[in-house]
Amino acid sequence: MAKKIVIVGGGTGGTIVANLLARNLRSQISGGKIVIDMITDKPYHIYQPGLLYVVFDRMQPEDIVRNQRGLVDPLVNVLIDSVLNIDRDNKKITTETGHNFNYDYLVIATGSRTVPELIPGLAEGAHTFYTLDEAKKLRDSLARFEGGKVVISVGVPHKCPVAPLEMTFMLYDYFRQKGILNKTEIYYTYPINRVHALEPVSNWAVQEFERKSIKYETFFNMERVDPDKKVVYSMEDTQVDYDLLIAIPPHKGSQVIETSGIGKDGWVPTDKVNLNNDKYEDVFVVGDTTNIPISKAGSTAHFESEVIAEIITSRISTGFSLRQYNGKVLCFIESGFDAASYIWFDYNTPPKPTAPSKMLHWMKLTYNQLYWSTVKGSL
Ligand SMILES: Cc1cc2nc3c(=O)[nH]c(=O)nc-3n(C[C@H](O)[C@H](O)[C@H](O)COP(=O)(O)OP(=O)(O)OC[C@H]3O[C@@H](n4cnc5c(N)ncnc54)[C@H](O)[C@@H]3O)c2cc1C
Repeated sequence: MAKKIVIVGGGTGGTIVANLLARNLRSQISGGKIVIDMITDKPYHIYQPGLLYVVFDRMQPEDIVRNQRGLVDPLVNVLIDSVLNIDRDNKKITTETGHNFNYDYLVIATGSRTVPELIPGLAEGAHTFYTLDEAKKLRDSLARFEGGKVVISVGVPHKCPVAPLEMTFMLYDYFRQKGILNKTEIYYTYPINRVHALEPVSNWAVQEFERKSIKYETFFNMERVDPDKKVVYSMEDTQVDYDLLIAIPPHKGSQVIETSGIGKDGWVPTDKVNLNNDKYEDVFVVGDTTNIPISKAGSTAHFESEVIAEIITSRISTGFSLRQYNGKVLCFIESGFDAASYIWFDYNTPPKPTAPSKMLHWMKLTYNQLYWSTVKGSL
C-alpha cells in the first residue's frame, strides 16, 4: 500500500513542504509508492508581505495573488476544500464536502487569522491591512486623507511582528511625499512595556520614532473602539482619539484546530525542535499555527518547512532522522519608502537590527519577486 502524506493548508508553509517533498520523493510518487495530498480552502495564494505595498499603491493587488494549483508540483494532488475535522487517533481528515483522507504523515499548515470581533467596535472603527480587501480600503482612505491624527494600535498575538513598525515608517514617508506631514500626527500604541516584543528591535524602533517625531504609548491593550467618538480605549484605562485608526487585530489559529480539540485558540502544541504535535510523532506542524514562542512569519514557516520535509523524507527512506529546527527567523524591516533594516535570530542568538540602508530595501523588494520561486521550493 502506498504511504500517504496529507498537508492541510496551502499557504507559505504548506506549499513549501509539498513542493520539497515532491522533489525529494519524486521517483516513489511516480512509482505509486507514495501519495501526497494537499487540502486547502482557497483556490488562490496571497503573498501577504505584499499587502503593505498595496496600501501605498506600490504593488497592485494582482501582483501579490497567484493560482494555488499553479504553485504546487503536479505530483501533489490539490483539493480546494475546507478541513472540518482532524482525528489524530484514527489518522483521519474530514472535509466540508464530505471527503475523507487517511494519512501516514500529516502536516498541519493552517496559519492564523485576524479576530477583530474580540475588540468591540474595532471592525467598524478601524482600518487594518492584514487582508487584501482591507489593504485596498486603507489605500483608498489614505488617498483621501488630508491630515489629522493617525493611530496605529497593535493587538496580540499577531503575525509578522515587524509589519506594524513597517506600516508606521512607511506612513511617515507617505505623508511627507504627499506634503501633509506638518498637518499629521502619527501615534503608535503597543500592549507591553516597549514598542516591539523583541527588545533589540524595540530599542532600534524607538530611535527611529524619535528621529521622525513619531509619538508612542506602551502598555496599551485595546479594549474597545468607539467609532462615533473616534476614540480607542485601553484595558489600562487610557484612551486615544484618532482621525484614522489602523489596527492590527489580535489573531487566532484556524477554527479546525479548536473544533478538533487540538489546541486552544487554534494554536497547535508543537515541539520546538522536532516540530511534531504532542505525542503524535507522525503529525508535523509548520508556520503561524504552532504555539512555539517565536515570530509568526513567512521566513519562520519557510525554515520549518525545510526541516519537516527532510524529516519525513528520511523517515520514509531510513525510518530515522536527526534533523531539528534551531529557531531560525530572518526579516527585512522597511524603515520607510527607500531604506530597510534586517534581523536574523535563532533559539540561541538574539536579533541585532542593522542600520537601515537602501541596499537592504532593494533586497526586500527583490525578495518580494523571488517569493514565487521560494514557495515552489526552488530557492
Ligand atoms: C501585512 C503582512 C505583512 C507580512 N510581512 C512579512 C514579512 O515581511 N516577512 C515574513 O517573513 N512574514 C511576513 N508576514 C507573515 C507571513 O505572511 C505569514 O507568517 C506566513 O504566511 C505564514 O505561513 P503559514 O503557512 O503558516 O500560513 P498561511 O500562509 O496564512 O497559510 C495558511 C493556509 O491554510 C488555509 N487554511 C486554514 N484553515 C484551513 C482549513 N480548515 N482547511 C483548509 N485550509 C485551511 C488558509 O486558507 C491558508 O491558505 C506578513 C503578513 C502580513 C499579513
